Amino acid sequence: MNLILLGPPGAGKGTQSQELAARRGLIQLSTGEMLRAAVKAGTEIGRKAEAVMKSGGLVSDDIVIGIIADRIDQPDCAKGFILDGFPRTLAQAAALDRLLVSKTRKLDGVIEMRVDDAALVDRISGRSACAKCGAGYHDSHKRPKTAGVCDVCGSTEFTRRADDNAETVGKRLMAYYRETSPLIGYYFAKGVLHTVDGMAPIGEVTKQIEGVLKSLAAA
Ligand code: AMP
Repeated sequence: MNLILLGPPGAGKGTQSQELAARRGLIQLSTGEMLRAAVKAGTEIGRKAEAVMKSGGLVSDDIVIGIIADRIDQPDCAKGFILDGFPRTLAQAAALDRLLVSKTRKLDGVIEMRVDDAALVDRISGRSACAKCGAGYHDSHKRPKTAGVCDVCGSTEFTRRADDNAETVGKRLMAYYRETSPLIGYYFAKGVLHTVDGMAPIGEVTKQIEGVLKSLAAA
């Protein structure tokens, strides 16, 4: 099954993608994660992307389309993938359509996570992730079961993203509304859009998404 999780920064796309990946054996493809890894490794892509990411803008379509085109060709994606943070522009969505056709694969569904704008800044500013395995946490909504210890791998090191600050969040939200929110209409018109209540508790959102996936499997 090939899915897109769509929603503004802080909607919970990463959390729900990790959950779905664990439950269903799908591969989570987060362009944000891939770009952060490229920045850390100091690759050419990383060098091109770093300043834009820090400012809260969008990295060029060519770069992210290239990253995804290479990644979905890898054998671990054969069973299916969840796109988290891609596509983010209409040009990326059109490129994804072409890419999937060329690989005789299809998009099974797009899940829009709808959230109140007012909640996003709080959600983003409390985020952290395990430095070792990348599992995501939140200071008030998703704490590790044992304080300071990752639930997944037991590591005691956590990181916070450089762009998760109040100043950059405003720009990221602007980029979402200007560039990404038109994708809701794009996928609605294609008949593949499903909306869940991203304001519900994490477990409830997962249930709603599972409900969508069951309806897709039955269709
Ligand atoms: P994310 O982890 O999805 O919030 O992405 C972090 C940052 O990476 C974004 O603010 C953008 O600068 C960049 N980025 C991630 N995915 C994309 C994409 N599909 N198109 C353009 N920029 C992206």
